[in-house]
Formats: sequence, structure tokens, C-alpha cells
Amino acid sequence: MKPRVRFAPSPTGPLHIGGVRTALYNYLLAQQLGGTFILRIEDTDQERYVPGAEDYIIETLAWCGLTVQEGPHVGGPHAPYRQSERKPMYRQYADQLIASGNAYYAFDTKEELDAIRESMTEGGNSTFKYDSNTRQKLSNSLTLSADEVNKRLERGDDYVIRLKVNANEDVTFMDEIRGEVSFNTSQLDDKVLLKSDGMPTYHMANVVDDHLMEITHVIRGEEWLPSAPTHVLLYRAFGWQATMPKFAHLPLILKPDGNGKLSKRDGDRLGFPVFSLDWTNPETGEVSSGFRERGFLPEPFLNMLAFLGWNPGTEQEVFNRAELIAAFSLERINKAGAKFDFEKAKWFNQQYIKTIEPATLADMVKPQLTAKGIVVSNAFLTEASRLLAERLTFLNDFWEQGHFFFQQPDKYDEGNLKKKWKEGKKEFFPELVARFQNLPDFTATALEAETKAFMETHSLGFGDVLPVLRIMLTGTMQGPSVFDTAVLIGREETVSRMNKGLEVFNELVL
Ligand code: GLU
Repeated sequence: MKPRVRFAPSPTGPLHIGGVRTALYNYLLAQQLGGTFILRIEDTDQERYVPGAEDYIIETLAWCGLTVQEGPHVGGPHAPYRQSERKPMYRQYADQLIASGNAYYAFDTKEELDAIRESMTEGGNSTFKYDSNTRQKLSNSLTLSADEVNKRLERGDDYVIRLKVNANEDVTFMDEIRGEVSFNTSQLDDKVLLKSDGMPTYHMANVVDDHLMEITHVIRGEEWLPSAPTHVLLYRAFGWQATMPKFAHLPLILKPDGNGKLSKRDGDRLGFPVFSLDWTNPETGEVSSGFRERGFLPEPFLNMLAFLGWNPGTEQEVFNRAELIAAFSLERINKAGAKFDFEKAKWFNQQYIKTIEPATLADMVKPQLTAKGIVVSNAFLTEASRLLAERLTFLNDFWEQGHFFFQQPDKYDEGNLKKKWKEGKKEFFPELVARFQNLPDFTATALEAETKAFMETHSLGFGDVLPVLRIMLTGTMQGPSVFDTAVLIGREETVSRMNKGLEVFNELVL
């Protein structure tokens, strides 16, 4: 059977990486088995609705290439995919449960419930739950006479519809990750299914929609595990057990030290993003940084997320999208929380950049040069990209790592120069310039052979020559092979930079 899976976020703010990971695992399962990946916007809680959050979710999925086959922006056979637009559909299901005795009307006002809550919590530490114990003392269709209930309904009194949860029953179900999970109904309450304004609650809308949309697997974060027994009871109450989806509750993503759930505050405190994209809080104007803007590319971002809670069972860590799709399995998701490690996230980005074809990498970094008004040929930029690829953690490192390919050094690493620009050695360098000038083939191999010959003639070691040469050409001690660098900038530029070095080094190190 082809899976139908859904990512069902509530548009209450930006997507935390945990949310993106949920979307990813759903997507991977669907892709692997030729199934369907659905986006459903769970916006029944109007109070928590945040403008812009839905667009943000859609933009994140698009950036990550987690292509949605059915959703509010693409339509599909079960449209609409925004729960607020499905509001009229839920009523009949609530009525069905009332008729079958699995749900009831509750007329208690907020003030009444608040007063009871207060009186119950006053004396001790007990917390109030609307359940099989307390409901007998409250105003609902289980305690009031049928006449009284009808009168109130006809009068248009406010009411909610609640699920009738029996006392002291075990609700057991299979979780694909945790195995058999059991809750006693004493841990549950009679959840509201339909609110007084006719809007369904999360539990009601979630189960009805999963059923109507023929969802086969519910893959979601661990924070929803306590809701699962209520959902199982709902499937039973509706008589939908036979097509109840499989459940998989994903482990939490933890703070780097493993002490609790990763939060936005950890990101702020430790200097890394926890959201997919930059987000501006529409109320406060506060901007939170995203992985995309921080320089992460979608493929390694997904690779990193995949490993937060899953492993392939082999040593391989670097996976492209197709490899992830092939290797993924729910069985290899861990129960234990996964510690977030920003250094590891950067490592994935770096590993990925190394695999990009130089010509493609050149296209990706070109805007950085254009922004500086620098124009070079594609061939030149491709070669620079080839030489720099393994030195980039982020694409934005390109300029810092390779500025010397595009302009003469404007400063020199004086600290290192002081150690190397020495009497008895520096006198020989004009000869090296001449040798480079006259070399028949200006290739890396020829340059290296010529440099060795020069060293032998004057009994100099690599350490006497290469650092000086490198600082002459690039200003720094870091960078790709100095001979490759010379070849790329060309003979004329190499010789000119060496001559400039000869001119200025004595003054610098005096
Ligand atoms: N709307 C819930 C959320 O915001 C969905 C939970 C579920 O997938 O059932 O995560």
C-alpha cells in the first residue's frame, strides 16, 4: 500500500528545526514508497494564529525541496487543506459521537469552571480535570435531564461537545518507534471536541482529517504522544479502527548539552539559528535568524536533520537527497532525544560544498564577486572554485578564503613574515622571480620543480621559501597550493606580486 502522510503544522510562528525534521521524515517515507506527502494547515486555534506563518512554512518546504503533492497552495482531492476552511465539515462528526453516546454537551461556563478549578486547587495540589470523576457534578447532558438539555440547546445557550472517556481503562496502541504504548484513561480528560463557536479542537479536526484524507502514517513529534490515546479513543468511537493510521512519535531535539528541549533561547545564547529561515515577529519586529540566511544549503541542512534522531546503521554520514530517500526507515529512528550540535551542522554543509561541481560552485559564488564589481571569466572562476571548494564551510566564506585570486593583497601577514624574511635568505628571492619569469611552461609542476632547484642551489628548505612566496602572492599563510595559485593568477601577476613583495617586505619587518 502506498503511504499517504501529512505534515500538519499550526501556523503559530516560524518553523523550528524539529518541525522541518518532522516534514522531512514524512517526505522521505512517502518518496521511498511512491506515496503522497500532504501539507495540512491546522489553524483551528484562532487565538494562536500568527500572520505570515503559513507562508513561512510553505517557503521553508520549497527551499528544502520537500515537494508537497496535496496542500493549501497546490490543491488536491481532499481540499481544502486549511482546517479553518473545513469548519462546516466537523459538526456532523461531533453529532455522530453524541448520537452514539461517545460524546456529550457541556454547558459549564468559563467562570463556573474557573471557580471549581480554584476551589479544588486551593486545599491541596490536586489539579482539576473534566473527566469521569468530576463530570457528575457539572452541567452537561450526562447530568441534566433530557428536557433541560433540549431547553438549553433551543435557547441557544453556549456549550461545547466533549469526548466521554470511561474511567480506568487501558488504551494500548503500537508506536512504530516506541513499540507498544499504554495509557490509563485516568491520565486523560474528557477533551473538548467542538468549541462553543462551532470550531473543532485540534484533537477532533486532526483525527477526522486524518481519516478523510486517508492518512496511513502519523509521523509527528514526541510532544504529541500524550494526545495519541485520545486520538485512539476517537478512532474507536467513530468505528474507524480498521483504517487507523500507524503512529510514529519522533524523539525530541535536545539542547547541545542534552539538558532539555532545544529552544530559541538556546540559539540566541549560543549563537546559532533554530529556525529554517529568517523570521520577523510581526508583533515585536524582532528578527530571528534562519539556517538559510546563515549560509546553509538545503541538501546538507536536510542531511543534518535526518541524523537528528535517525541513523542508517552504517558508517556513512554524508547523504544526498536520493540516498536519504533510499536509506530511510522508521525502524531506525531512535527513541532517545537527539542532541543538537551546531559544529556538526556546519560540517555537513562543508562536506556538501566539497561535492559541488566547480562550474556549479562558480555560478553559486558569482554574485559575491558581482556585488564587489569584480568581473572574471567563467573558466577563471571555475578554477578558483575548484581550488577553494574544500576550504568553504559556507558559500559566503568564498571571498575571505580566496580574495587574492581577484585582487592583489592589500596587507601582508607580518607576524609570519618576520620569522621568514631573514638576512642570508631574503637575498636569494630576486633570483626566484627571474626563474619564474623565464620558465618555459608556467605550470604547477614546472613551478614546483623550479622552486626545488632554486632551494637546492642555495641550500634552502621548504620552510625558508614557500611561506615567503605564499605571503607575496596572497598576503596570508592560508590557501590552496601556492603553485596552483600562481598558475591561476598567471605569470605576469605572479611576477608583479613577487616584485612588490621584494619592495615592501624589508620595510614591513624592520
Ligand atoms: N498541529 C499539530 C502541530 O502543530 C500537529 C500534530 C500532529 O501531527 O498531529 O504540530
